[in-house]
Amino acid sequence: MKHRVAATACVLMALSAPAAASDLAESIQQDYDEHLGALWDHFHRNPELSTVEFKTAARMAEELRAAGFDVTESIGGTGVVAIMENGSGPLVMMRADMDGLPVEEKSGLENASRFQQEDPITGNLVYTMHACGHDVHITSLVGTARQMAARRDEWTGTLMLLVQPAEERVLGARAMRDDGVWERFGKPDYALAFHVSSSGVAGQINVQEGSPYAGADTVDIIIHGVGAHGASPHRGKDPIVLGSQIVLALQTLVSRELSPREPGVVTVGSFHSGTKHNIISDRAHLQLTVRNTNEHTRKVLLDGITRIAENMGRVAGLPDDKLPEVIISNESVPPVVNDAPLVRRLREAWTDAMGGDAVVDIPTKGMGAEDFPFFTQDPDISSVYWSVGGTPQEDFDREAAGGEPVPSHHSPLFKISPQPSVTRGVESTVVALLELMPK
Ligand SMILES: [Zn+2]
Ligand SMILES: [Zn+2]
Repeated sequence: MKHRVAATACVLMALSAPAAASDLAESIQQDYDEHLGALWDHFHRNPELSTVEFKTAARMAEELRAAGFDVTESIGGTGVVAIMENGSGPLVMMRADMDGLPVEEKSGLENASRFQQEDPITGNLVYTMHACGHDVHITSLVGTARQMAARRDEWTGTLMLLVQPAEERVLGARAMRDDGVWERFGKPDYALAFHVSSSGVAGQINVQEGSPYAGADTVDIIIHGVGAHGASPHRGKDPIVLGSQIVLALQTLVSRELSPREPGVVTVGSFHSGTKHNIISDRAHLQLTVRNTNEHTRKVLLDGITRIAENMGRVAGLPDDKLPEVIISNESVPPVVNDAPLVRRLREAWTDAMGGDAVVDIPTKGMGAEDFPFFTQDPDISSVYWSVGGTPQEDFDREAAGGEPVPSHHSPLFKISPQPSVTRGVESTVVALLELMPK
């Protein structure tokens, strides 16, 4: 309650004295000192797991309402939609994901999380941590809401701020769409999102034409063998040997069938078979993750996995009705694909506002996936997904000199510098929104 009064007072103060565009960074820094820094601290200490982000969602609804938005809760589970109508013009959506992870924080931060929550998957009480930096995303979304409310005379259109649950389980975006978010609040003309990145220099904006996040498929391969005594292999069909051949043959898909300029990943993350030293099992189970950046690669990899698994079964002499079964999950995630002209437009706006050094174009090295594309495909919505660096330059220098490495996302050591991340998160978002909704 005490907090609510403080937030409202701060917004009223901002509303009565709207800052000019030129002092945007200064105004955001002031809001960080007065409100956003403490809000990040609160979210960082209290991370909630995917699908059960109840208190986080309630606090976000309260903050966005206090900033003057029309707020609707419980969309696709714990999702929140906040709308501000401000005259005619485009409908622009900005998304922030809010879930934490079942990780015990060992970052050494003063405000490290000691929060525990019942894991909805296992039922166990687990430590939780904002080990992916989603606390930066939601804090920045509040900062964006407060700036856009204070600058109503600088833009025209409708702003939709979307607080998404369960990104880490790639469930939340689809759940919000299935709950009719476009039908209820309007289909956006543009959709935006960013991720804070531990591999980026604190405060630096990285934006690429192309695909910053990969598409992902989950595949299971069931191998049917013929069980036998380990001393009589000629009496059986060994699924471990066949599975091993399949694992090795799968390595040729990326190396020999994809263009070397086309990224793809086939990882066998799990291989289970057998019970005892001297028993040839009758079954093996492989679990794969398969990554792509476009539909063509996806088809080459998935068709190739099926072809290799089935035909390696034939090589092993299995009859057609006992060939390995390939099960492709229907829980596929498409790649994030940025709209190239929109990237160029926003890059120019960001460079004008923050200077050329603040905006970089560094291709992503990994093939991580995101569920943001469920907002931007079917129907297609022009979108840009960028990243905001969260690690101080001195930490990279220390690593380069052979010191402690910069921890990755999802690590218990994960650590983001909140001030540059949140302020640049707000600044990059507000600059993009003002560019897309000019008066
Ligand atoms: Zn994550
Ligand atoms: Zn994340």
